[in-house]
Amino acid sequence: MMKDIRLKGNKTCGGCGGSLAEKLIFEVTGPNVIIHGSGVCAGYSTTMLPIPKMTLHFSGGGGAGGAGIAAALKATGREDIPVLAFGGDGSVSDISFAQVSACAQRNDNMIFFCMDNEAYMNTGNQKSTLTPWGAATTTSPAGHVEWKKDLPMIMAMHRPAYVATVSPAFPQDFKAKVKKALGMKGYRYIHVLAPCPTGWGSDPAKSVGLARDAVRTGLFPLYEVENGKLKFTYEPKERIPIKEYTSLQRRFRHLDDSEIDKLQEQIEERWTSLVSKSQAKI
Ligand code: SF4
Repeated sequence: MMKDIRLKGNKTCGGCGGSLAEKLIFEVTGPNVIIHGSGVCAGYSTTMLPIPKMTLHFSGGGGAGGAGIAAALKATGREDIPVLAFGGDGSVSDISFAQVSACAQRNDNMIFFCMDNEAYMNTGNQKSTLTPWGAATTTSPAGHVEWKKDLPMIMAMHRPAYVATVSPAFPQDFKAKVKKALGMKGYRYIHVLAPCPTGWGSDPAKSVGLARDAVRTGLFPLYEVENGKLKFTYEPKERIPIKEYTSLQRRFRHLDDSEIDKLQEQIEERWTSLVSKSQAKI
């Protein structure tokens, strides 16, 4: 295993799940990569790397920059250098979604990481289309009224080389998927759950626990998709109630029991749908 190659002094908050996720990613890839990043909050720590990085903000950040780097490497015969592209949930699912979709459809040669902290955290916690239903943000103070977009599944529908979901609380699963993606060519999309204690109103010491409980509740299933085939990579023996996850976060504290039940029902519905997708080609 490679050591943490990040330099000291990155600007992420204590307990930042995105920063932990990046540590796991670079332990697998090492420094011989080129990074393209956009307006991702946790991307602050990628500025503390001894690695070439190109930053384009939201409008160019959805992977188009990564596609340009990949094209330049191809033209110069250096396709052996992996391109890693990073975007936050707001950048990927909202502002730059058209570019993300185009890169996936063209099967552009990069590994794209969506660092999902479930709101625009680097600008002060405004809701994105990946904010969960019911979660309070500065632009949805009474709770987000729309359901979270199922972005990994939308990406899988593009049929790129690889799609996977990862949680930093399952480091072996996480790193195995990054390693697998590294050994492939084409567009590889990895959706990272990145707990944000600052925006979620949670104890920084509980970030890994929340990343684990998101999986154990079924809210954030761990799976991968190759050749249209979905495979669960971890299935909780018994899923825990969503209340055990929401009760540890200030953003959900206004929800009453009937609203928590509504969230639970949605998880059950989505889980059933994923199970049926795993039994047939998608
Ligand atoms: S605001 Fe959230 S996502 Fe951003 S650095 Fe802090 S903990 Fe990480």
